[in-house]
Amino acid sequence: EQLTSQQAIELENKYGAHNYHPLPVVLNRGEGVYVWDVEGKKYYDFLSAYSAVNQGHCHPKIVDAMTNQAKTLTLTSRAFYNDMLGKYEKFASEYFGFDKLLPMNTGAEAVETALKIARKWAYEVKRIDENKAEIIVCENNFHGRTTTIISFSNDPVARKNFGPYTNGFIKIEYDNLQELQNALENNANIAAFLVEPIQGEAGVYVPSEGYLKAAKKLCEDYNVLFIADEVQTGIARTGRLLATCGNCSCENKNCEGTPDVKPDVLILGKALSGGAYPVSAVLANDEIMNVIRPGNHGSTFGGNPIAAAVAIAALEVVADEKLAINADRLGKIFREEIAEFCKTTDLVKSVRGKGLLNAILINDTEDSSTAWDICIKLRDNGLLAKPTHGNIIRFAPPLVMNEVQLRDCIAIIKKTISEFKN
Ligand code: PMP
Repeated sequence: EQLTSQQAIELENKYGAHNYHPLPVVLNRGEGVYVWDVEGKKYYDFLSAYSAVNQGHCHPKIVDAMTNQAKTLTLTSRAFYNDMLGKYEKFASEYFGFDKLLPMNTGAEAVETALKIARKWAYEVKRIDENKAEIIVCENNFHGRTTTIISFSNDPVARKNFGPYTNGFIKIEYDNLQELQNALENNANIAAFLVEPIQGEAGVYVPSEGYLKAAKKLCEDYNVLFIADEVQTGIARTGRLLATCGNCSCENKNCEGTPDVKPDVLILGKALSGGAYPVSAVLANDEIMNVIRPGNHGSTFGGNPIAAAVAIAALEVVADEKLAINADRLGKIFREEIAEFCKTTDLVKSVRGKGLLNAILINDTEDSSTAWDICIKLRDNGLLAKPTHGNIIRFAPPLVMNEVQLRDCIAIIKKTISEFKN
């Protein structure tokens, strides 16, 4: 029996922990750039599950890979080999240009894994005194919700009353090379610098041109690992296969050009599976990844055959459908159009972003509800987006969107905001 929206919301509120505040809309179907609610109303998805559904909802190639594998073998744990994992590890390592891959399930797990690898590398290769390793992180970062990760979060709601926290993190301002240099210079025990190439959850903050490249160079000078958390920015979202590819002009797969920045450790999640299944990964070269030995780390589900099959298909779709090029082109149209629109309204201050990871800044205080109310009206007009930090609305549609659909969405956004009254 099909529940109404109201019934589904009531059930979740009664029986589910209240750890989210969802926009009131209940979805039960998705295809490409569209989702449908239980009453049958169709929407453009302009969030893509926080940049996970880059390949579009229920992409047939990904669904086929998943269901075929599900009929054959779902899980062995890592107590035994399975015949899909090695294939996937080879495929993804070559795709992103690293020697090895360590498979996990969620973004936060992959970040935790990268931190463990960096610390072990610092003790065994860099020869820092045991338990002295420090990791540099950025203000306003978002890397997940585990206890270690919230230890270096700025978000008071995510942090408060969850201590004691994990030690060993030095926080510097994002997009500030001088602070990075000072931190590196003043501490001999730095293992790594962990950074988001664009700060997504913070509200889509794009660092200055050349920042990542210069930061990587500083890390090299001080023999410190550069860890890129591309959980949100990776997999073509920002108009390149990886946001760290910067302005490298090569197209996607099997990059033959010189990437703008080659991280020492790369963290992927979300769209690594096209949002179809929890799949995350840490990639690194042998010198770093070989510090991990049997018993050091693991996960019952990490590297399971379905995850492997799904990730191969999801990465093939990115290359076959040239999603990075599409995101780059459509993103430019989006920002141009919205920037023009900003001149005609007092409600939107500015638009920023890269590729199809964009945000608009609503002219309001952080604790007022204008952005939320606009998102409710956008929902009524057939487009789903969610405010962040009170007055920022992120726009991140699936990358399989075409120009006609994008222009339709821009029209919905303009109309909704023009007609909006508090
Ligand atoms: N890192 C970044 C940059 C993210 O944006 C997110 C999720 N928003 C995560 C890590 C955590 O991923 P997950 O929710 O899968 O744990």
